[in-house]
Amino acid sequence: MGYRVQEIFRTLQGEGARAGRSAVFLRFSGCNLWDGDPRSKAGAACPFCDTDFVSMAGSRAGSYPDATGLAGAVAELWTGSGGTPYVVCTGGEPLLQLDSLLLDALRDRDFEIAVETNGTREVPAGIDWICVSPKAGTRWVQKSGDELKIVWPQAFDLAALEALPFRHFLLQPRDDPDPEKAARNRSATVDACLGRPTWRLSFQTHKALGIP
Ligand code: SF4
Repeated sequence: MGYRVQEIFRTLQGEGARAGRSAVFLRFSGCNLWDGDPRSKAGAACPFCDTDFVSMAGSRAGSYPDATGLAGAVAELWTGSGGTPYVVCTGGEPLLQLDSLLLDALRDRDFEIAVETNGTREVPAGIDWICVSPKAGTRWVQKSGDELKIVWPQAFDLAALEALPFRHFLLQPRDDPDPEKAARNRSATVDACLGRPTWRLSFQTHKALGIP
């Protein structure tokens, strides 16, 4: 099977419990909660996406026919860096494409592997770091992992979520093109973290830093 890749790039993880860590981002094309067409966004299961996962216009984008070639393209961005090679598989929804062949090929190159998923698919074995960011009203099956990252506000019961087996509980302000709405969302997120201390603020530092 081949892999449709939106982009592969080296950056610092911008958000979540591992913010600041150097990583190769492997962004797959396609998502099961929105088709990527701006005209259908308002009615999509996930109506607040801030990511281009359809244009296939990013660096190293394209169709990779096999896992070895794709893992090699990821590894090229780490060569010579030292440390533990680290790849974040994201999307779109990465679990529509990430399979055991690709996981094996990345592990053969000594990569520690993270995934950022919307939780609608179960995570396969062999992932080192699982970040789940579910969307309210969708069928959510992956209810364990390393970090639960809720874009806020959404129609979730935070107290109920706290019982789930995650190591980190994060609330991240829902971005919005309207600055006033974005500010309201930031304020609501701060209030939610103050009110329920299990939750920590996740801020999109890459946007503030102007890095991808
Ligand atoms: S689940 Fe993620 S990639 Fe898919 S539409 Fe929502 S924010 Fe975008």
